[in-house]
Amino acid sequence: MHDTEKKEGFRQPLTPAPLLIVLASFDPSGEGVNHYDPEHPELLTDKESKYYGEQWAISKPADCYERFFGEGNESMLEYYRQMTNGKFWFYPVKIDHPDENTLENGVVSVTLPLPHPAALRNLGDYDNGSAAAKVIHDIVCACDKFIDFKKYDPDGDGIITPHDLAVIILNAGYDHATCEHDRECGGVDYEDGPDGAHRFQVHGTSQPTDAEMSGGVHIVRVSNIGEYRSVKTGLTTIGTPAHELCHNVGAQDMYSRYTSGYDVEPRWPTPAMFSLMSSGNHLGEGALPSFVDPYQRIYFGWSDVTEAKEDGVYTVTEVTHGDKILKIPTPNPDEYFICEVRLKKGFERALTKGEEKGGVVMWHIDESVNNEWFLKAQCVSSNRAGGGRRHDLGNAILPREWFESVYNGDGTFWKFGPLRDKDLSGKDPFFYKSDDVKTSLFDSSLYCGAASMSYSLNRFPEGVSHDWKLTVEVLDEPGDEMRVKITRG
Ligand SMILES: [Zn+2]
Repeated sequence: MHDTEKKEGFRQPLTPAPLLIVLASFDPSGEGVNHYDPEHPELLTDKESKYYGEQWAISKPADCYERFFGEGNESMLEYYRQMTNGKFWFYPVKIDHPDENTLENGVVSVTLPLPHPAALRNLGDYDNGSAAAKVIHDIVCACDKFIDFKKYDPDGDGIITPHDLAVIILNAGYDHATCEHDRECGGVDYEDGPDGAHRFQVHGTSQPTDAEMSGGVHIVRVSNIGEYRSVKTGLTTIGTPAHELCHNVGAQDMYSRYTSGYDVEPRWPTPAMFSLMSSGNHLGEGALPSFVDPYQRIYFGWSDVTEAKEDGVYTVTEVTHGDKILKIPTPNPDEYFICEVRLKKGFERALTKGEEKGGVVMWHIDESVNNEWFLKAQCVSSNRAGGGRRHDLGNAILPREWFESVYNGDGTFWKFGPLRDKDLSGKDPFFYKSDDVKTSLFDSSLYCGAASMSYSLNRFPEGVSHDWKLTVEVLDEPGDEMRVKITRG
């Protein structure tokens, strides 16, 4: 299969990984005291000031622990453990040499003799990228004294991968990616954060670095976000860290990247809230992130996949309940459907706004698209790479009611168009058995590729009728186990 080809050289995250959280403060003068003065805010924002870019963390390591590593609460550790059915999570790394500002596990606090990166970029020869790279590199190096890093290089190649030891930096102040949506921040930008003592912001990323630690081992990738999510929410919630750390172990974005200006199609049918890697990380102000889409859960080896070679009745189970997923082949070897169960409970209780309980969710996968675009983070993008035309989504969700309707001449429903409806309120994406027979039936011939506009399949191999279709009848009400009846032809 094509998806196994892509796995060559890819290491599935199937063993829990230690995580180091670094709370970073910026003290360019090295005086070790906070120079913020509401009467003289320019001390921190005037480029000529020796305190330019000074910014201190508001929180302490102890404020992080339960949010990231708590057991039995809605921590990031529990989030990963539930999503993967106990196959993968981030646990607190042992701090071998703690100091008075640091915990014994998981979280250290460092202060750099540098301005915040959003200030440093305005100084000397720095720009946005080189300032971030310099600061991230130096923050990681400042952690050397806390941990014997060499032991996290089991194969002795000198590289500590995010599977061996994951690192996330919480930069003092606000996160730009989450704060820009906060109305109370009033359209702030990187150098105009919502409180005078915390003007400078970073934008959440997962990015490469090359920090050489004692023993000659190198840390090569870190996640980097702001310590604060927004004025309204306060300290960063788990959604953005979970998203960035998932990148560290190989996940790709599932929103419309590299599309800008007039070319943005706001109704492009990305996985949206149905993936942590799309907009699902922001649900419940980031406290209730949705799980990763099933395509990437399979890629990571987290799901239990059955291939429906024959038509018939199969049982699929909810993500945290064994995550039994059905993969349904089609006459085109590149294209298949995925059938999963998502329920509005636990971490996913904020998945949709309506009263619906959840149920079966259908997806259409096109590996010919993914083989070209997945590793470039554009497999669901609406961009026109190279100035050409848009391509179909390689990982397309087919919700029951989210697409715009196309009507017959007599005003009755005919099929769906390629884009999401303008107004999703009151629309239920799930399939399940109910008093209304329509809620139980998925019919692929109602859905088309967003670019190809071809129904059921993006491409029909020679000799296959364009009337070919898949129907899935859901035989159960929303629940942890749901039976589906598959018919193709
Ligand atoms: Zn991302």
